[in-house]
Amino acid sequence: MKREDARAMARELMDHHGLRDWSLRFDRARRRAGACVHTRREIRLSGPLADLYDAETVRGVILHEIAHALVGASHHHDAIWQAKARQLGAPDSARLSAHLPSPQPSWVGICPVCGTQRELYSAPRRVTSCGVCSRTFDASRIFIWSYKGQPRQPGGQYARQLRSLTRLRHPNE
Ligand SMILES: [Zn+2]
Ligand SMILES: [Zn+2]
Repeated sequence: MKREDARAMARELMDHHGLRDWSLRFDRARRRAGACVHTRREIRLSGPLADLYDAETVRGVILHEIAHALVGASHHHDAIWQAKARQLGAPDSARLSAHLPSPQPSWVGICPVCGTQRELYSAPRRVTSCGVCSRTFDASRIFIWSYKGQPRQPGGQYARQLRSLTRLRHPNE
């Protein structure tokens, strides 16, 4: 769902449950959908996950965090929290269910020597070589990149850097 819609929904639910003085913040977390930061009176939603989820799922995440806010930090996911979550209509499960979509890293680099994989959510900006099988930069161990499963060389600054590295290796060309 759209972030502005998620924000509006969160605000409405938080106000409704007496959390008017709490704020909502999006963060960049990818392994959990939401968080409740009692010391800052803040409920956080993962921006990347909110983008992927439908409204019903995001609502469940928000209610889950509101339940944490209402019962206090000490309860974690205990029976008191569970009762509150159920009362609010939040899904019972403390964790995100496994079937929810999770963002896949778009860029995958493979070391041509040892096969080590490196995953990135955005294109690499610098040319790097495998640190697993060589401690120092080694042009024969430069990662070979693919984008969403298709071989692709990153462009821009990366491409320029790669060209200059290749020139250094072949000064006569
Ligand atoms: Zn929780
Ligand atoms: Zn390697």
